[in-house]
Amino acid sequence: MTKRDHAKMICDAGELSGIFKDATSLEAFLQEIAEMVSQHMHSDVCSIYLFDDQAQKLVLKATKGLNPSSIGTISLKLGEGLTGIALKEMRAICERQASKSKGYRHFEGIGEEQYESFLAVPILHGRVRIGVMVIQNAKSNYFTEEDIKALMAITTQMANTIEMAKLLMDLESRPQPKQEQEEEKGLKLLKGKIGAGGFAIGRAVVLDSALLSPAEERALLERPRMMKDFHQAVQAAEKQLEALQQQIEAQFSDVASMIFAAQILMLKDTAFVGAIERLIEQGHHPAEAIRMTDEGYIRLFEKLPNAYLQERIQDVQDVGRRLMKNLAGINTQTADYTDCIIIGMELFPSDIFKLVSRRIKGIILLRGGVTSHLSILARSLGIPLIIVNEKRILNIAQGTQIILDCELGNVHIDPADSVVRAYAQKEKDKAETGGLAAQVRESTFTKDGERVKLLSNINLLGDAAVALSMKSEGIGLYRTEFPFLVRSNFPSEEEQYIIYQKLTDMMKGKEVTFRTLDIGGDKIISYYDYGHENNPFLGMRSIRFSLRHKDLFRAQIRAILRAGAEAELKIMFPMISSLDEFLEAKAMVQTCIKDLQREKIKTHRAPKIGMMVELPSVLEIIDELAKEADFFSIGTNDFIQYMLGVDRTNERIADIYLPHHPAILRALRKIVLAAKQNGIGLSICGDMVHNQTYVPYLLGLGIRELSLDARLVPKIQSFIQGLDMGQAEDRASKILQHNTIDGVEAALKKDAKIFGSPKME
Ligand code: PEP
Ligand code: MG
Repeated sequence: MTKRDHAKMICDAGELSGIFKDATSLEAFLQEIAEMVSQHMHSDVCSIYLFDDQAQKLVLKATKGLNPSSIGTISLKLGEGLTGIALKEMRAICERQASKSKGYRHFEGIGEEQYESFLAVPILHGRVRIGVMVIQNAKSNYFTEEDIKALMAITTQMANTIEMAKLLMDLESRPQPKQEQEEEKGLKLLKGKIGAGGFAIGRAVVLDSALLSPAEERALLERPRMMKDFHQAVQAAEKQLEALQQQIEAQFSDVASMIFAAQILMLKDTAFVGAIERLIEQGHHPAEAIRMTDEGYIRLFEKLPNAYLQERIQDVQDVGRRLMKNLAGINTQTADYTDCIIIGMELFPSDIFKLVSRRIKGIILLRGGVTSHLSILARSLGIPLIIVNEKRILNIAQGTQIILDCELGNVHIDPADSVVRAYAQKEKDKAETGGLAAQVRESTFTKDGERVKLLSNINLLGDAAVALSMKSEGIGLYRTEFPFLVRSNFPSEEEQYIIYQKLTDMMKGKEVTFRTLDIGGDKIISYYDYGHENNPFLGMRSIRFSLRHKDLFRAQIRAILRAGAEAELKIMFPMISSLDEFLEAKAMVQTCIKDLQREKIKTHRAPKIGMMVELPSVLEIIDELAKEADFFSIGTNDFIQYMLGVDRTNERIADIYLPHHPAILRALRKIVLAAKQNGIGLSICGDMVHNQTYVPYLLGLGIRELSLDARLVPKIQSFIQGLDMGQAEDRASKILQHNTIDGVEAALKKDAKIFGSPKME
């Protein structure tokens, strides 16, 4: 048997972008995949079948090895033949001698009689059936267990992209023009909630509106443009997107892979491009043809049932906008949003990566909260983000000048020259001083000599570099879910190991706290079928997900233990609600250590195992938990949400999401006491730490480890250096006596004067 090197079987990013380059149509793209897989798997045949949901049939769409004339003509019902069974039952089917097996179905003229070994793997998006990938070989008994795993890995890796190809191939009906919206002229200043700090001056790009501004479109329509101009625009767009794809993979290797794939595929789609060509042939100006076709596609996508397909609508709009701009010669660069402020209803994590690679300066959204994970991601990426509650912002003219002040929470629309000058000066000053970062110290002490440990929260590997440059003492929270969010399948143990190893290498000698997967809530992964959840934040989230998907949990823990073998390693579980959950999760770590030792794989033997305190239920059993855990980390973002029953992502009720509610302040004290009495570690890692108003209280309560956004370490350190711990303790005990929100607020205002913190944020 040919020796197959499975380590190399999972296609690498370079290879995948290669398929896009070579393919000239969607059919050619699928054919490229079939050829690539057959080469990797050393199989004589590789075929791709796509599932037609309406006809409930699988249709052969590409093959390497079988008779090419069967493409498009061979079809199977769900459950028919081995291929149909694989999709119906959503499982891999491997046969040593296919012709002798029960489910075998013979097709005349297809030429598969000679291939006895058969392996079919369903292509799925969550529980949605997309198709089947089949490989075959002349030798019987050819495929091994390892081959099955490798083919499954390849199909999950490709599932999203193949699904997009299928979707485009499926779309048949065509567009009608959409009505134009009236432009908003009255808006001048908007107040919003700050999702990510900083400020930005730029030109508005409203994502939910037309492809070009009416003025730009009119100017373009007045210029003669021909078919050849359209073709040039398509070619330029392909080049730009390929460059963006490469750039994003180099910049965010831990989180972003193939995120421009859907857009590149659209340009390969002969139906999409053909529809525009037909309109041009009928006498429409190319710009008009692009707009009509694009809008038609958007309407078709809007009708599709799955929520995650909305992400694709953004892609359709982006492609249209790019083609228009290329046609108009407005901006042929890849970084076509340079200096722009993006305005939209809401964004997905993948969108934000796409936008950052196109050099945006800021974001204004209508949905999402300041502790939502999109805001957290924006902070990691250094993009100011503001959330406003004013729909009219979506109707402002494209290109309107905007100033985003994410220090005060203001959006200035078409500001006066004097305001622009003032902000330009502010930007300049900020760049010149370089802030407090240059003066930051290795260790932090209060004025009266009390030691406080400042750790960092990180989401992307890039944040770890910032943490180091800010002399952070370690990582107090690594949100490991970010590499899971922007991709098409669960990363394998090996893929996670590679990412985690980079982190532990970077942080050598400093502690690193891995928080296990915390998906669900507002961190939905598109490739997992959650079913309908009325209350996602109360649903299949965090540790609940991990404990119900033990294989995934095991893979993550093993990757962490391996990558942290020589690190000062801490592992913690999010959203623990009971002692039982904690013990079950802890047992998984212990089992993984034993397994790795038995397998003679390098592992950390005794990491510190802790939990996040995020749910009110644990308050009543906090002592018992403290006896089992090595440390607690208080996640105030969720703790406040669950204690007060206030959705952390709902801007409309943000005024009652209060870190200083007396119940929260007293609960914090309870947690501190339990940790102290049981001699275990305690840190706090929610956004409450970012607010100087609360820092004296947290220290005064006895918390000595704060984990925060690395960019804020200098500011918080400098604030702590000016504090007197004795005074902070005294004030904390006074604040605890208040039993109303008003009472606490008055006390905190008084404290702000004492400690010099800014007025209550
Ligand atoms: C928290 O809930 O405070 C926390 C740090 O976790 P996350 O924000 O990722 O939910
Ligand atoms: Mg949390």
